[in-house]
Amino acid sequence: MIACLGRIVHDSDAESKLDDDVSTIFNSLNLQGSIENGDVSGIASKDFGGLYSFKPLYLIRPSGAEDISRIVKAAAGTPHLTVAARGNGHSINGQAMADGGYVIDMRSTGENHFKLLTVNGSPCIDVSGGALWEDVLRRCVSRFGLAPRSWTDYLSLTVGGTLSNAGVSGQAFRYGPQTSNVTELEVVTGKGDITVCSETQNPELFFGALGGLGQFGIITRARVKLQPAPDMVRWIRVVYAEFEEFTRDAELLVSQKEDESFDYVEGFVFCNNDDPVNGWPSVQLNPDQEFNPAHLPQTAGPVLYCLELGFHYRNSDQPSTVDMAVSRLVRGLGFVDGLISQVDVSYMGFLLRVKRAEQDAKANGVWDNPHPWLNLFVSKSDIVDFDRTVFKKMVKNGIGGPMLIYPLLRSKWDSRTSVALPEGEIFYIVALLRFVPKGPSVEKKVAENREIVKWCIKEGLDFKLYLPHYRAKEDWKRHFGNQWTRLEKRKANFDPMAILAPGQRIFKRTNQ
Ligand code: FAD
Repeated sequence: MIACLGRIVHDSDAESKLDDDVSTIFNSLNLQGSIENGDVSGIASKDFGGLYSFKPLYLIRPSGAEDISRIVKAAAGTPHLTVAARGNGHSINGQAMADGGYVIDMRSTGENHFKLLTVNGSPCIDVSGGALWEDVLRRCVSRFGLAPRSWTDYLSLTVGGTLSNAGVSGQAFRYGPQTSNVTELEVVTGKGDITVCSETQNPELFFGALGGLGQFGIITRARVKLQPAPDMVRWIRVVYAEFEEFTRDAELLVSQKEDESFDYVEGFVFCNNDDPVNGWPSVQLNPDQEFNPAHLPQTAGPVLYCLELGFHYRNSDQPSTVDMAVSRLVRGLGFVDGLISQVDVSYMGFLLRVKRAEQDAKANGVWDNPHPWLNLFVSKSDIVDFDRTVFKKMVKNGIGGPMLIYPLLRSKWDSRTSVALPEGEIFYIVALLRFVPKGPSVEKKVAENREIVKWCIKEGLDFKLYLPHYRAKEDWKRHFGNQWTRLEKRKANFDPMAILAPGQRIFKRTNQ
């Protein structure tokens, strides 16, 4: 499809002149995709967070890397325009928006590539940066019986969107985040160059783009490591009254050898009451079983902890073998007697579990509510303090959504990527996933998040924001710490005019 370009008419001569300039540039580009004035379809000026809205000048649906390169070069030819790649818009704080700039809808490139390869004897898949992980899963399993090793909990996110952050779920303790599971990228830099990069070819761009918050280039293709897909997952939840016992078991499980542990380890905090969203009913996996609080010790506090575990197996495995293997692993854990819940689900059903929650939430009308979410990485050395102050006091009545907490291992993350992490080997991901009705309470919840971050800073906790959101350069410098200089150098090399990902608000567009 040849780009059809409309012209925006403004009152001001200066703006009309600007639009003429932009129109002229675009008319000369010969794009294969399409362009929309402003944001007629309304997708580019909103995101999952529902907290910010910035209208772009154009929404562009490219056909591939060539189109994207032309758009970036066109922006570079103007004194002020910026370019934001939009994955599936599941950011919280407007990170995929471009106020008065170009938003590139990467989903239009979702079908590109998709090729199975063998690299050094191991299977990999080439996928588009605009592909949704749920499509990658379905295709890989149904066509090849293979699957990526490391996931996010929810899969309606794009490959480029999660690789620009990290991509974390219950497999990351073993394989590292998604950024540790790609071997090659194709990237369109802020100069408009289409560059293939890997650990050995253009490594600065490769590691810069991974976890790079879109600052150095737009990922148009990723080569993702695969493994044989299991058929089934034994999905288990066990409950703890004491944080120390919960963390001891969680840390033990993520530190054990591959054949001596579960395949998936996560956890969450919930309220010690019968609230349907925040309390006991949020725990049971099998709707026929009720949570029985009579099992809880007298000493249980306002919040309880749940370890969520997954054990992979094949249809050809004997049921007794699976039962024995799971019992052996569960036997060593110190959860509250009687508070265990388990079901067997297909591997795809397990990985698509949040999709079902999304369908329910859409039916209840809460999915589209604002989401003032807060995600942090907190070092093991400070997690007890964090629990005591944040979980047991600040959010002890629940947040109207999940409160995730589970340990990760720093050694599974590559320090050459752009992701900022706490210092210690074991750190916890903490995710406060709030669903808040529209209205004044949204601002209150944003303020509560700010209080938590302020408290972490004041107490000198070893922590970083995940999916970070700061407005002031000083905060970004503190966030990146001793990686700030490397970040600035990479920016100067790959996006010297700060054209890309303006919604992150790290660098200001320059005309140099
Ligand atoms: P967008 O929100 O569209 O973009 C995010 C940023 O990346 C923007 O700055 C954008 O410009 C940039 N970007 C987008 N595409 C590209 C590209 N191809 N190349 C370069 N830059 C690009 N995260 C986890 O790690 N684990 C989870 O389990 C998890 N679960 C989630 C569940 C839900 C319901 C939601 C809403 C989010 C979840 N996230 C999780 C967070 C998610 O990984 C990030 O919000 C991610 O950025 C969303 O991907 P997206 O494709 O929608 O990206």
